[in-house]
Amino acid sequence: MPLSYAPIVKRRPGTGDQLANLADYASARESFSWEDARHELEGLPGGGINIAHEALDRAVHAGQGARLAVRFLSRDGVALEFTYAELLSAASRFAHVVESLAPERGDRVFSLLGRGPALHIAALGTLKSGRVFCPLFSAFGPEPVQTRLALGDARILVTTPMLYERKVAGIRERLPQLQWVLLTGAGGRVLPPGTLDLDRLLAAASPEFATVATTAEDPALLHFTSGTTGRPKGVLHVHDAVVAQQVTARLALDLRPNDRYWCTADPGWVTGMTYGVLAPLLCGATSIVDVEEFDPDRWYQLLAEERISVWYTAPTAIRMLMKAGPELAQARTYSSLRFLASVGEPLNPEAVLWGQSMLGMPFHDNWWQTETGGILVANYASVDIKPGSMGLPIPGVQAGIVQRTDDGGGVVEITTPDTPGELAFRPGWPSMFRGYLDNEEKYRQCFAGGWYLSGDLARCDADGYYWFLGRTDDVIKAAGHLISPFEVESALLTHPAVAQSGVIGVPDEVAGTAVKAFVELKSGLRGDAALQRDLLAHARRRLGAALAPREIAFVDALPRTRSGKIMRRLLRARELGQPEGDLSTLEGGA
Ligand code: ATP
Ligand code: MG
Repeated sequence: MPLSYAPIVKRRPGTGDQLANLADYASARESFSWEDARHELEGLPGGGINIAHEALDRAVHAGQGARLAVRFLSRDGVALEFTYAELLSAASRFAHVVESLAPERGDRVFSLLGRGPALHIAALGTLKSGRVFCPLFSAFGPEPVQTRLALGDARILVTTPMLYERKVAGIRERLPQLQWVLLTGAGGRVLPPGTLDLDRLLAAASPEFATVATTAEDPALLHFTSGTTGRPKGVLHVHDAVVAQQVTARLALDLRPNDRYWCTADPGWVTGMTYGVLAPLLCGATSIVDVEEFDPDRWYQLLAEERISVWYTAPTAIRMLMKAGPELAQARTYSSLRFLASVGEPLNPEAVLWGQSMLGMPFHDNWWQTETGGILVANYASVDIKPGSMGLPIPGVQAGIVQRTDDGGGVVEITTPDTPGELAFRPGWPSMFRGYLDNEEKYRQCFAGGWYLSGDLARCDADGYYWFLGRTDDVIKAAGHLISPFEVESALLTHPAVAQSGVIGVPDEVAGTAVKAFVELKSGLRGDAALQRDLLAHARRRLGAALAPREIAFVDALPRTRSGKIMRRLLRARELGQPEGDLSTLEGGA
């Protein structure tokens, strides 16, 4: 492999040191069982299981009701706090409202809300009521909102008066199945026709609600994928997912009851809901929720002053912090920080190391997708990191690298280390999705030969570490070489002028396909021919002539999904003059 970084060797704990939740990876893999993990939960009287019950009622039953559950921060400096008991009462009120309006278990409740108490309360209350919750990203325009509400057969929508006016009022008549729209934050103002004042309904409802007796296989959550590779898919999850949500947060994020935890993902996406809203409550931690948008200085301030101990963020955010320069990072100290993690896109080795030099510890990359419902591959607190690798499978999960057979129907497992193939898993972990919305055929295509096929290409090295190579659609085959866009992007990122890059294959007369890199430069720099030559030479030195880009183009901003992921397929479509697909309507022109 062209790039290699020295492993980051973790200090072995001495006597008296607090051990990581996963203190010994090998023995945890050996002894782990999902049944044992399920026994850590309380369960419902009568034997069922419910995500919100485990997140809230269990803590209150254990005498932890007065513990701080969530602290919401806004720019005006006012913090809104909820204990576990207060959040349970608020969610219970919401459950009553939902029960009175949506008669059927399994009815779908959608939210179109930014981060804040209403979103937590709606999610947890819906789950308690046995209805299915689906969060939508609040920055979506009317088109993507309408598509998802219609696809998901939304019965109830929770939003604010402002978001309703801007994004829903104009499409309401195209959504006959949407029976109720509940508005929060109206503050006594007259509401638009066809809406109800949620805050009033909540105030009138009882703060006690006996959780509906959901079973492990009852539907709980609907999440739409990011739409990086095509039309976003609706992914269905059941209440049993809670078993994996809790265990993975404990093992992969090292989350503990006294942590002050910050997950930067928006709850409109699966990470923000699973590890932003639910998992910290399942682990008894305190969540710090920043309701504002990204701002480097504010983020450093928050890390330091809110005494964050576990931070879960994304490569795009880390690269933006890197772009903002070291001075801002160095202006503060982060004495409470214990663990840094990242997900959503490949984490370049430079970013892993940047964590170490600026924040005093490396970022721990982990991998999962909407379909897997929880982290499946991770770098752990006690395990050495190989920068650029996404780590080792979660205990209880068997991963593999497979290749599809020539007839396309079957797969073979590749056991030779470092051989590229599709990242696959043996089904059986509790948070595995149970279907795509209205697309049984696509769901079936995800499985072959007893494996779940992730659609990502990776390799596994001799030590069992997994290395992401790209989406199956993004990988470049040039002059007989298989080229990982991620490796080329990581090499470019080691150049001091480069902030971000996206790499694709373009047609080439000689090689069939050649590598082209689109580069976003650091603040204040301008791309010219000299810098272009310098970058090409830099890439060739790092990667060798076969893998280095043949062409480099400077761009102001790379195309991204609304969740911030680089869309290489859009770069390809633009390069080849092809239509850009349906993204402009579904993703609001991401
Ligand atoms: P769509 O399925 O609609 O194309 P998406 O796959 O981006 O969108 P998500 O489920 O939000 O939607 O993202 C999961 C994908 O993100 C993974 O399949 C993988 O490609 C990428 N990903 C997540 N974490 C990592 C990681 N640590 N390293 C590399 N890639 C990652
Ligand atoms: Mg996907």
